[in-house]
Amino acid sequence: MGKLLIVGTVAFDAIETPFGKTDKILGGAATFIGLAASQFDVDAAIVSVVGDDLPYEYLQFLADKNIDISAIEIVKGGKTFFWSGKYRNDLNTRDTISTELNVLADFNPVVPENYKNSEVVMLGNLHPSIQMSVINQMEKRPKLIVLDTMNYWMNNTSEELKEVIKHTDIITINDEEARQLTNEYSLVKAAAQIHTMGPKYVVIKKGEHGALLFHNDNIFFAPALPLEEVFDPTGAGDTFAGGFVGYLSETENESFNNLKNAVIHGSNLASFCVERFGTERMANLKKEEVERRLHQFRELTQFDIQLQ
Ligand code: AMP
Repeated sequence: MGKLLIVGTVAFDAIETPFGKTDKILGGAATFIGLAASQFDVDAAIVSVVGDDLPYEYLQFLADKNIDISAIEIVKGGKTFFWSGKYRNDLNTRDTISTELNVLADFNPVVPENYKNSEVVMLGNLHPSIQMSVINQMEKRPKLIVLDTMNYWMNNTSEELKEVIKHTDIITINDEEARQLTNEYSLVKAAAQIHTMGPKYVVIKKGEHGALLFHNDNIFFAPALPLEEVFDPTGAGDTFAGGFVGYLSETENESFNNLKNAVIHGSNLASFCVERFGTERMANLKKEEVERRLHQFRELTQFDIQLQ
């Protein structure tokens, strides 16, 4: 079984969508990544930090999904990272209302000894210096280092972020972030520029419009499954990343063709995440449901055109 090391936030989220509003619920990049990756045959661990205001049941819930939580530090008297956001009516655009770093501000991540040889490292969204510190603690260069980030870190820690990007094999970001990072409107040009910054593979997520995978001149596009129910897109990007790395850790094959499958698995799992608030839908997702939707994905994208 492949080892997958995940670093990212474990958070309190407060979300408002056109369909409702939540108080503080469990969220965070590492949470969604871990839940999605746990659908695969992988040995996954999360490196993160929370305050003791986070109910222990939330961590137990992750442990029950076979995610190693021993490297989630609990700071006594500390406050957990908090994010709140509000979605516009199209659900594809959201405004961040507040980001409170709290215990994340002084976090020194410690990679557990038994995960220092992980084949795949998923650097989920958080401070790029923390991401870099995790890379530096690895025993040897992992087979794959995958990075996800967002505009918050581009705005506040641009130089540190560029340094981490240099060390990564694959970056997964959304279209708006790819444009911000490169000052290019065309996503093809943006991906080409990101290649020169480090990553061999660039994945650009476009929310309900699917995802693009770039590898030099090769491009692959996966649509998002058209859904009847889209309730709360929070965590969809991280769920995509978790499905993507979960599949890659299980299959241990970094060919372009296998990465295409990883994009489909990521998109498939993200399609569930958006159907309920927060982690609700991922909490009791069944293997059969996942499998059924993969069939739908194949149906949706197959055609038999006659070419000369
Ligand atoms: P996504 O919808 O996949 O882009 O990610 C949503 C998750 O990212 C939420 O659960 C938040 O807790 C988390 N999040 C929001 N802002 C940040 C940030 N600046 N750094 C790390 N995680 C964040």
